[in-house]
Amino acid sequence: METLKYKRVLLKVSGEALAGDAEGHRGINFDVLESIAKVVRECVDMGVQIGIVVGGGNFWRGLKDGGDMERTRADHMGMLATTINALAFADVLEKQGVVVRVQTGIDMNKIAEPYIRLKAIRHLEKGRVVIFACGTGNPFFSTDTAAALRAAEINADAILLAKNIDGIYDSDPAKNPQAKKIESIKYTDVLKNRLQVMDSTATSLSMDNNIPVLVFAIKDPENILKVLKGEHIGSVIGEE
Ligand code: UDP
Repeated sequence: METLKYKRVLLKVSGEALAGDAEGHRGINFDVLESIAKVVRECVDMGVQIGIVVGGGNFWRGLKDGGDMERTRADHMGMLATTINALAFADVLEKQGVVVRVQTGIDMNKIAEPYIRLKAIRHLEKGRVVIFACGTGNPFFSTDTAAALRAAEINADAILLAKNIDGIYDSDPAKNPQAKKIESIKYTDVLKNRLQVMDSTATSLSMDNNIPVLVFAIKDPENILKVLKGEHIGSVIGEE
């Protein structure tokens, strides 16, 4: 096996990333999904164990889309949206020859396995990719927090935060052309400076469990492999 820095990782892919360039970042672009799946297959072939948490923002984002809905109900819709993405992702991965299991944080046993930690770990050990749907299974949380939670539960070496942006910036590069990319940053500084990379619950959970968070652009899915090999392409959140 080629030298890889990480053996078991949790890949977080936002819903927005799955929409590609679609207007309003809505829906699923299957070409994008296929290009990500091809790289995931390469990683699995190299012996990396991969768990995936998918977002749902390409279909529904809690109260951002639900307006004055009751929050819990709007979040339930968001969790259902992550399941749609998980099923699509599973299908595309299978077409690439990857063995996949979808596990949901809210039981939907006609369409997927319920989330069971030891079962998930067993799948990973057998070289299967596990897609964790429904986030944490609880309202008031995000799929970033789900990524940190599942990463801790499966003892992942790192969280791979695949984004539409190529790293962490000191201000929003869309609004400030002078924004500077940060190569590495402490969890506490992400929290203190309220950087928008992931929400504070997710950052705290990663910090408390000492799991490095590697942030990079998913536009080029080969970045997943580069990050696994230890190349510094995006930004790293860690202890130092
Ligand atoms: N969600 C939730 N609990 C979770 C994870 C997600 O209630 O543990 C809901 C929440 O409404 C959220 C939506 O699902 O807005 C989609 O998830 P998220 O916004 O994290 O997706 P992403 O931005 O990564 O596509």
